[in-house]
Amino acid sequence: MSKKNIWFLTGSQHLYGAEALQQVQQNSETIVKAFNETEVTVVPILLPKLVTTPEEITQTCIAANADSECIGVITWMHTFSLAKMWIPGLTLLQKPLCHLHTQFHREIPWDSIDMDFMNLNQAAHGDREAGFIHTRMRLNRKVVVGHWSDPEVQQRIGVWMRAVRGWTDLQGAKFVRFGDNMRQVAVTDGDKVSAEMQFGISVNTHGVGDLVAAVNKVKPSAVAALCADYEKTYKVAPALKKGGKKHESLRYNAKLELGLRAFLEEGDFKGYTNTFEDLHGLKQLPGLPTQRLMADGYGFGAEGDWKTAALVRAMKVMDYGLKGGTSFMEDYTYHLSPKGHQVLGSHMLEIDPAIAAGKPSCEIHPLGIGGKEDPVRLVFNAPTGNALNASLIDLGNRFRLLVNEVKAVKHPKLPKLPVARAVWECKPNFKTACQAWILAGGAHHTGYSYAVTTEMLEDFANIAGVELVTIDADTRISEFKQTLRNNEVYYHLNQGFRA
Ligand code: MN
Repeated sequence: MSKKNIWFLTGSQHLYGAEALQQVQQNSETIVKAFNETEVTVVPILLPKLVTTPEEITQTCIAANADSECIGVITWMHTFSLAKMWIPGLTLLQKPLCHLHTQFHREIPWDSIDMDFMNLNQAAHGDREAGFIHTRMRLNRKVVVGHWSDPEVQQRIGVWMRAVRGWTDLQGAKFVRFGDNMRQVAVTDGDKVSAEMQFGISVNTHGVGDLVAAVNKVKPSAVAALCADYEKTYKVAPALKKGGKKHESLRYNAKLELGLRAFLEEGDFKGYTNTFEDLHGLKQLPGLPTQRLMADGYGFGAEGDWKTAALVRAMKVMDYGLKGGTSFMEDYTYHLSPKGHQVLGSHMLEIDPAIAAGKPSCEIHPLGIGGKEDPVRLVFNAPTGNALNASLIDLGNRFRLLVNEVKAVKHPKLPKLPVARAVWECKPNFKTACQAWILAGGAHHTGYSYAVTTEMLEDFANIAGVELVTIDADTRISEFKQTLRNNEVYYHLNQGFRA
């Protein structure tokens, strides 16, 4: 992503002469420079030439489409830019769009304001003209309002840039499924053709034997080096350490990790799924290797869940550089105490140490299903604080992205639980959140994040053109049900036969 950039298109016209246009250009440079100097601007902004005619707008939109380094476009109408001029260009534009509604001068100079000031600072109506044509053309875009020096404005544009990065990363992204879906599970399945049309991802299968072949190619010297690395990085159980009774099992995990990593690198995959029902030729379900690959940025979904693998990958690209981290997660079990209801989230093995509070311990325990050797895994608690769960489901005629904001909380020690875990409270409260989640058809698998925000996912869904449903502090069930009903109609009409 390091070479990517965003284009800042300032709209104007020729009514007020060359001098006014020079001023518009200068002011745009000042704004772009200010944005580029903030740390929330994670993608550098470039300022192409002002656009003042239909031809210039169209050519600039074509150039933005053709430039693989341009991943999004911000527009702003410094003066009144006649919006019919934008129709041909915006019809062609294929890059994510953000409409910044700002004004160069922060305050009205009450004593000296004259018609020149008014004519130069016309975003108040110029951007309304732009907004009309965006709405008339049914364009998905983000609208950000306020003075360009306002930290909240800069932050909201930064959030959009993160969503744009997540989206861009998915275009052409390849995900591999080792084996098919876990038998009979509904929510983890779905239409991979639709997903490629909607999100730009391709999901294809490889027999697990192809992975076994890659694992068998791993050199013993590399295995020993990685085991030494494990011992340095984690609190490795004595039996697993070099010289310990079960060290061979740790060695097998290193071999599995190296084989898996080589396979993913060679195939240029950004994520994968597997299933405990299809491990022919592998001795264990990959636990530790999957945890570590996720921490390195690979998307993962268990039991063949390719939608969650893609979502986790996108969320990891979105949160890159932020504190917190994102992991594959599953709503596992409940605490339904009269004093407060909580969710314990975990998985059989595959929780990402990117969300570990403290140094994970590396342990070996029986799995109970799958009939293979005991797998090695990292065990840890997750931090407290604000987080969210996001779930991507296939409703048959469309995808729905569902988000629940939660608060991760402290919990008693869990000395006998052999897996990484997080405990959270749902917003607005457990009963409303779970009722809403179930009414919306949300999955048990999610992307769980301390860094990705609802606004980021809203921007992402908007760019992808998919439905976003949010459960947060303001959710009320009666309105929520009505939103789901409204969305059924909207998306049916909006996507029609294409879905
Ligand atoms: Mn699962």
